Amino acid sequence: MTTFNNRMKLEFMNKSENESFARVAVAAFISQLDPTIEELIEIKTALSEAVTNAIIHAYDTNEGIIILHCSIEDKTVEITIEDSGIGIEDINKAREPLFTSKPEQERSGMGFTVMETFVDEVNVHSVLGEGTKVFLKKTLNTDIA
Ligand code: ATP
Ligand code: MG
Repeated sequence: MTTFNNRMKLEFMNKSENESFARVAVAAFISQLDPTIEELIEIKTALSEAVTNAIIHAYDTNEGIIILHCSIEDKTVEITIEDSGIGIEDINKAREPLFTSKPEQERSGMGFTVMETFVDEVNVHSVLGEGTKVFLKKTLNTDIA
């Protein structure tokens, strides 16, 4: 197992109130890296999409738990957002811009595209009926000393 400089774990219910909780908690945790405002916004935006997805899609109308890990290694931030929900049948299709399984809820299907825009790496692992794990990785700009 990799040894990180620092890491934390959050566990919370799939309530929409917890989207801002997760966003603020991660922002506070990564502030030790002195990110620029722009980097902070980018990470928060990507994270927010992944957490919102777990809240909205994973458990339908049932209660569920979301687990978030955040690790720091030098200037690199790694975040995983994990649910034990319904899973994603076709990950490639889900990641396409404008694909949404909830058009009736005025979802635009842009969540994964936003994540890809704002962080360096987005990996999705999902098993139908077991859950979904989204991995985000971003290295902060090291030439700003
Ligand atoms: P938007 O994010 O623009 O509001 P959206 O959530 O539908 O719309 P994406 O975030 O790109 O769009 O996700 C695409 C699709 O992937 C979702 O519509 C949903 O079917 C599926 N999906 C994403 N995350 C999960 C998850 N954690 N569990 C189950 N399905 C998911
Ligand atoms: Mg989404």
